[in-house]
Order: sequence, then C-alpha cells, then structure tokens
Amino acid sequence: MKVLILGSGGREHALAWAVSRSPRVTEVVCAPGNGGMAQVARCVPVDLKDVTAMVRLAEAEQPELTIVGPELPLSLGVVDAFTERGYRIFGPTREAARLESSKAFAKQFMKRQQIPTANYAICTTAKEVEESIKLFHPPIVVKADGLAAGKGVIICPTRHFAEETAQGLFSGDLLGTAEFQVVVEEFLEGEELSFLCLSDGTRVVPLVPAQDHKRIGEGDTGPNTGGMGVYSTSEMLEPTMTEWILHHIAEPTVRGMSQENTPFVGVLYCGLMMTARGPQVLEYNARFGDPETQAILMRLESDLVDALEACIDGRLSEVEIRWASGASACIVASSSGYPGSYKTGLPIGGLSSAAQTPGVEVFHSGTSRIGNQLVTSGGRVLGVTATGESLEQALDRAYEAMAQVHFDGMYYRHDIGHRALKQSRK
Ligand code: AMP
Repeated sequence: MKVLILGSGGREHALAWAVSRSPRVTEVVCAPGNGGMAQVARCVPVDLKDVTAMVRLAEAEQPELTIVGPELPLSLGVVDAFTERGYRIFGPTREAARLESSKAFAKQFMKRQQIPTANYAICTTAKEVEESIKLFHPPIVVKADGLAAGKGVIICPTRHFAEETAQGLFSGDLLGTAEFQVVVEEFLEGEELSFLCLSDGTRVVPLVPAQDHKRIGEGDTGPNTGGMGVYSTSEMLEPTMTEWILHHIAEPTVRGMSQENTPFVGVLYCGLMMTARGPQVLEYNARFGDPETQAILMRLESDLVDALEACIDGRLSEVEIRWASGASACIVASSSGYPGSYKTGLPIGGLSSAAQTPGVEVFHSGTSRIGNQLVTSGGRVLGVTATGESLEQALDRAYEAMAQVHFDGMYYRHDIGHRALKQSRK
C-alpha cells in the first residue's frame, strides 16, 4: 500500500515513521517533506496552499491513502477535492475544519451544543469591541477569527490594550491580513491539556493525553512558540476525568457536527484549560498537533493505518487501538533567535549517535539536505522523542540523546515535564 503524507514538520515525520511500521505499507511519499523525512520516505515538492497542485500530485502518485498534516490544506478543502475524485484521504472536509479555521464559528458552535468554553463576544467593529470589553475583567483575551499560525491569540493586561489589539487585527497591522471578526474572551486560569481523539463522524476514540510547553523559556516564560516540548504519561489524566471530557466535550462535538450536517472525520484536537470549574475548551484543532503527535505516536502499539482507514470508512468501533504503558517525552531544539528571526543553513551533527540511544527517535521539523549534509532550515529544527517505563526514564533518554546533537546556536529547554515530575515526587 502506498501512503501520501502532506506536510513538512515533526508531526509529519512522526506520521511517516508510524505509517512505515505498518506491515501493509510498501511505500511512503511525503509532500513536501523535509531533510529527515527523506530517511523514511520519498519526498516530492508540492505547494500546500494550492489544492489543484495537490490533486495533480495524487493523480501522478496514485496513493491508496493520503494523510493531511497541517491545517491550511484542510481549510482550503483538500479533503473535499480528493474525495470527489475517489482518492481516500484522512482529515475533515473544509466545512468540518471550520472548528479550527474560524474561532467565531467554533465559539458559536460550542454555545449551540452547550460545550464548556470561556465566555466570549464576537465583534466586527471597533465600537463593538469597546462595548464588549466593558463586560470582561482584565486580563482579556483577544483572538483573530482566522488561522494565524499560533500568533492570533493575544492576552491583554488592560481594556485599553485589548481595544488597541482588536484594532490592530481589524486593520491587518498585527497579522498582515485584516480580520473581519475578532473574538473577545474571558481569561481562564489553570493547567493546559491537549486531548486528541480519532473520529469517524459518529464515534470518538481518545488517543493518550499529552501536555505541551508553548513558551520559549525555562519555567514556562517568554513568548509563545509552536511548541518546545511535550510529554505523555498514563497517569496524567484520571480515568474519570477522561470519561468526563469524552462525554461533555469530545462526543457532543462530534454529535453536534453530525447533527449540523458537517460530520467530522479525522483527528479532533481539544485544547483544554483545566480550570477550577472543570475543563473548558480553549480551542479546537482539526488535525494532529505538533509536537504532541511525536510523543503520542511513540506510545502507539497498534497499526496507525488500520485506525485511520477505519475513520474514513465509518467503522472506528471495529478497530482496537493499543498503547504502551509508561511515558514518552519530546524535546524540541530550535535555532538561536526563535520565535523571532534566526539564521538557517547551519550544519547539524551528532544525529546518528542520538538515534542510537535506546527508545529514542529523532523527528525533524526544519531541516533540509544539501548533498549529504543536513542543515537547519526553520525555527524549530528537530525534536528528540523517547519512550520509557516512567516519565523520568523517557526524559533522561531524550536529554541524553539531545546532548549528542549539535548545530550553531542550538537551543532547547531543560525543564520539559517539570510540573509532572514535581507532582510524581510529592
Ligand atoms: P488557542 O490558539 O486558542 O489555543 O490559544 C493559544 C494559547 O493562548 C492557548 O494555548 C492558551 O495558552 C492561551 N489562551 C487561549 N485562550 C485563552 C483563555 N480564554 N484564557 C487563557 N489563556 C488562553
């Protein structure tokens, strides 16, 4: 079986690695892929902003299954275009992907379906923002409606700052494109948790939970990034809490989307804040998370391809999804300067010794190959992911392997999993 993976980050590298372990898979093609993915797959160029180009690629490659990594092609309707032409593809349709591509749609949907989320107002003018923020106590969260690659959420310490931020979103000064709608939202306090499920449009099966570290600095300080590390353990979510989240959040989401004639097939990622009044949805994503996927897939024991095909065919209840007990952890190495500007093209060394550490896989995010040399080509360069019987063991292995890797200006956080470790030592 030939599988095509659309995307070029650590998430797609982990997907390619998991898919290539399936005995049913004979060939993996990644488009466009990256320097590291070339080790497990054939990489071919494609523009992920161009649905016609992706269809042309499918016509040339004739994949038996396509998996979509990032949100942009989903929001442009790549699943609709492939399905119309008879290509099997894993991911939600354009309409269903609005859970991620429009924050205003997601908030209104949660309200209609009584899914717990922060109080909010949707505003289309500066005047509406001015009126709405009187009802919220600072800090106030201001969100761009559309996809913004992690830059569309601004936590505003004062009402004045919230007004200016909304103005910057409407004018396009803040994100480069002008927003028609802005979400003003109540600030929630608590620990964040990523709860990912597979859905076949009717049923929901949770993946193991994961917690990521979004801030660049140790102790969760400094600006937000795409994710500097993540860990997953069996203990991080009590079975009763898992049941609660399933019954009050994940299942009503999938049921509601089906009732509203936009069935959701794919990975439903619920970004949750575990608040004093229970879990609340911060955001939905309509695809696997990055770097959560790296840590989650390292714990998957059963066949990923079987599970994804069962979603497409509406028979998720027929497959068994098995997970390794214990833990996994992923540490991300970034370029000096990230999330601001950074240099690229720097040679990367030590990868083969890192990969020899037991229980370790190195998944690449921003790398490319020049001749035989791997070089940096992005802000987040690569992630070292390890499994272990305990979180401590997984982290030790990941850090041991990371110590082998080097490139100029390489940076990584030394405190991934620190909160969970503190808890387990209590
Ligand atoms: P989102 O893209 O909506 O998940 O937002 C990105 C990040 O902003 C989240 O992971 C949170 O850290 C933070 N955030 C979003 N909404 C809120 C909120 N209502 N209260 C507090 N923090 C938030």
